[in-house]
Amino acid sequence: MVTFSGTRPDASSHRLLRGTPVVPGVAFAPVLHARTEVSADAVTAYGDGGFADEAEALEAYDQAVGTVASGFEAKAERASGAIAEVLTASAGLTRDKGLRSAVRKQLRAGDALLASVHGAVEQFATIFTGMGGLMAERVADLYDIERRLVARLVGEPEPGVPTPEHPSVLVAEDLAPADTAGLDPTLVRALVTERGGPTSHTAIIARQLGIPCVVGVAGAQAVASGTAVLVDGVAGTIETDPDATVAEERVADDHELRARLATWSGPGATADGTPVKVLANVADGDSAVSAAEAPIDGVGLFRTELCFLNRTEEPSVEEQAAIYADVLRPFAGRGYVVVRTLDAGSDKPVAFATLEGEENPALGVRGLRLSFSNPGLMERQLDAIALAAREVGTETWVMAPMVATVAEAASFADQVRARGLKAGVMVEVPSAALLAHRMLEVVDFLSIGTNDLTQYTMAADRMATDLAHLTDPWQPAVLQLVAITAEAGRQAGKPVGVCGEAAADPLLACALVGMGITSLSMASAAVRAVGAQLATVGMDACEEAAEAALAASDPMSAREDVFRVLHG
Ligand code: PEP
Ligand code: MG
Repeated sequence: MVTFSGTRPDASSHRLLRGTPVVPGVAFAPVLHARTEVSADAVTAYGDGGFADEAEALEAYDQAVGTVASGFEAKAERASGAIAEVLTASAGLTRDKGLRSAVRKQLRAGDALLASVHGAVEQFATIFTGMGGLMAERVADLYDIERRLVARLVGEPEPGVPTPEHPSVLVAEDLAPADTAGLDPTLVRALVTERGGPTSHTAIIARQLGIPCVVGVAGAQAVASGTAVLVDGVAGTIETDPDATVAEERVADDHELRARLATWSGPGATADGTPVKVLANVADGDSAVSAAEAPIDGVGLFRTELCFLNRTEEPSVEEQAAIYADVLRPFAGRGYVVVRTLDAGSDKPVAFATLEGEENPALGVRGLRLSFSNPGLMERQLDAIALAAREVGTETWVMAPMVATVAEAASFADQVRARGLKAGVMVEVPSAALLAHRMLEVVDFLSIGTNDLTQYTMAADRMATDLAHLTDPWQPAVLQLVAITAEAGRQAGKPVGVCGEAAADPLLACALVGMGITSLSMASAAVRAVGAQLATVGMDACEEAAEAALAASDPMSAREDVFRVLHG
């Protein structure tokens, strides 16, 4: 059994570092640092590059861009899923015409090539940071691209992860997609980063590789290369130089546990038979097909906006219906699919829907709010969803994101029900949680988006790499709001689910069920671990876990207390 405390370090020989756990599992191996910088000597030797004129310098830039971008593309071809997507996006960003003109402008102003590249990247980084959300997350990719371009220009190999010679724990400031593509999970046993939040690329990639991962670990980079560390991706701890025998036992116990979890085959229920819908989050037809291979009861969140991120024009009702039908089809006659209307804006700009130039897009016109000034956008999407549902025959529920008032919920529900579909709203804004009982008077179900609910409750950008301790759904204030919402569902006798990342955390999932949550929707990679964990505990234990989580004063003690309740 994985234990929370393990061998607590004594001050003389051990250190215990803490961060935010993002992928469960335990690993014990020596530290290997990712090399992220180009050597200073090579940069000094390169100097101003000795170009005859601006055109010659720009040609060298174009060559470096070509090499770096092709490198990303080659890695993308060998990768799949989320990793391939982020690599392709990095290739596009490297070749970006705007970035090139910013470089040319600096060259024209008389700057040397390396300074011009740096200036252009800084300019873009400032813009991306200002946009917040997913765009801010791309700043790490920009700096990665800069380092690669500089390396190519000065004639050094591109920085990144050295190929481990033996099983290692990879430690870095943050990891870019290109660093992690092609990582061999038999050699890289865990990922630990100083920066990065629960939704960072590092976390996404670790989840896909199935290796333990802890992010936001202050001091991780100061641990000397080769130091043996025990990484606990459930507790979020990194112990340096632990007792080797104890550490190896914990790894063996963890492997046994994970092997057991992998055999879970549904349906979702607690050990004493209380049913809990275990659902998947999907983005398009392909992800729906692959999610349907997991033992799930349907889809708890279809993020429709992700189908349109690269579209400049709104697709017709028929085209939208065809896209939605691809997601509904794998679940015909099997459970239900919750389609979320466009959550455009903020971190997910959709050209045909999003407003330009908002000062604070996360608090601006996003999600349902877009329909206030453009009601036709919502009506056409609902028509398309209804059309797809009729054609395919899958039970289809529809919910709106970013709902803040009961009047918004009521008006949305009217429109959905007029099309013969079940209507719900997401609880992502604290006002919706506080008024959950009134929301349930006008809708059929609620679905708690813990990612945004945490962001808005804690006033902490969910993508901010320095705020991982606040953007943690185990924060007591977030759990209180979840409990209020779940209780409202119990009293109204209506379903209340969770579809944010919190649902993918097996420990938290049990506490959520104990609060009264009736469905858990998550990345399909997390389904078996959550389903299996639930199957081992009775409803009494879930309720006790909920009480323990709600009574705790901070996320770490909440995790520890819930672990103790569930695992003794
Ligand atoms: C959430 O906010 O928790 C959620 C599920 O929506 P998204 O992550 O797409 O904003
Ligand atoms: Mg959200």
